[in-house]
Amino acid sequence: MSTVAFLNIGMHGRVNPTLPVVAELVRRGHTVTYHTAPAFGTEIAATGATVYRYPGGDQPLPDTPTPPVLLAGLARTAVGLVPAVLAELRTVRPDLIVHDSACVWGAVAARELGVPAVSSYTTFAFNRQVPSPTRVSWRLLADAGARPGSIPGYLRPRRQLSRRFDTRGVPLVDLGNIRQPLNLVYTSRAFQVGAASLDRSYRFVGPSIGARPADRSFPAERLQDPVLYASLGTVFNAGPRLLTTLATALAPLGGTVVVATGRTDPAALGPLPDNVLARRSVPQPEVLARAALFVTHGGMNSVNEALYAGVPMLVVPQGAEQPLVAARVAALGAGLSLHPREAGVDVVRALARRLLDEPGFRAAATTLRAAQRQAGGYRRAADELEHYLRTGTSTAAVRQPSEG
Ligand code: UDP
Repeated sequence: MSTVAFLNIGMHGRVNPTLPVVAELVRRGHTVTYHTAPAFGTEIAATGATVYRYPGGDQPLPDTPTPPVLLAGLARTAVGLVPAVLAELRTVRPDLIVHDSACVWGAVAARELGVPAVSSYTTFAFNRQVPSPTRVSWRLLADAGARPGSIPGYLRPRRQLSRRFDTRGVPLVDLGNIRQPLNLVYTSRAFQVGAASLDRSYRFVGPSIGARPADRSFPAERLQDPVLYASLGTVFNAGPRLLTTLATALAPLGGTVVVATGRTDPAALGPLPDNVLARRSVPQPEVLARAALFVTHGGMNSVNEALYAGVPMLVVPQGAEQPLVAARVAALGAGLSLHPREAGVDVVRALARRLLDEPGFRAAATTLRAAQRQAGGYRRAADELEHYLRTGTSTAAVRQPSEG
């Protein structure tokens, strides 16, 4: 049996898909440690992993985590965390390190310790058609130029990192895209844009959805069909206006309309129709299993989870890679995409009605549902990690349910 150390950044969307993989490895008898922001400690401990909480507390996320802000934050955090993480890992002595594709300190620690590493992509894998948002581009430079101080705010800690530690393999700028010889991607090949251009180090394991700790406060018994679900995720703060619009637009079409308000206080939505259930957080896979329609910001996990349940979507992207995800959903016929600027009550209601009434959307979502399930999920991810532990290679032997 092996010892595997997971390292991650403090975002639900980055942590969630790893949890069932960790639980599966623990079930198979491996020792797993998880090095994380304190806020995630309790839910990670439920997987059976030993939790190491990063010192210094949780770092609040910026309201709009644009690439220049993220880059500066990642470089700064890495400089601060690498020494502590190295000290922990020297006592853990892992055989393998699994880090998020943006977890700089995970990649640096693996290099420093000479431990094999695997990268975990909860976004699309990046290629020519899906450019990494943190790669050097005119867009990145323009965004950085609009925020005075962000370039030195990045360069200073990035230089410190290279000076103090072994950063080979860590891109100079594109810190959201740290590749390793094995890269787990939590979607299906069918959903990945331009999958043919990606080599076999990328393993499309599909949505990693396992049992989450039960949310007993959620009144599942009150849901009436058709259940219409709206969420704009946990990172972007869309504010109450758009959420109120979604609730108002969907209410006449639904039995129950569930609205997850995330960083917005549900009270800020004002009085809502009786059949709207608004809460900061809901058990999303459970709600999706009942839902006829999902209005989403197009976070990769949310979309993967919706396709896993075969639910058509109206995608209202808020930023990051979400416009690309929205375009992919629309291109594959599993939903429609709407710019937030155009998301008025009448437009949202008309599009929602189309998604409910035209069977083609549900049919396309059902086709993708099969691909998402065949990809293998967390068990396949655990197989890939075990295979890599045994052979040090990502290119052979593990059965490829969906990619042949
Ligand atoms: N999520 C949840 N309940 C909620 C809202 C979100 O469980 O009320 C989970 C959801 O299942 C998904 C993650 O939070 O796994 C959101 O990730 P995603 O990549 O979709 O969006 P982000 O929040 O990172 O923008």
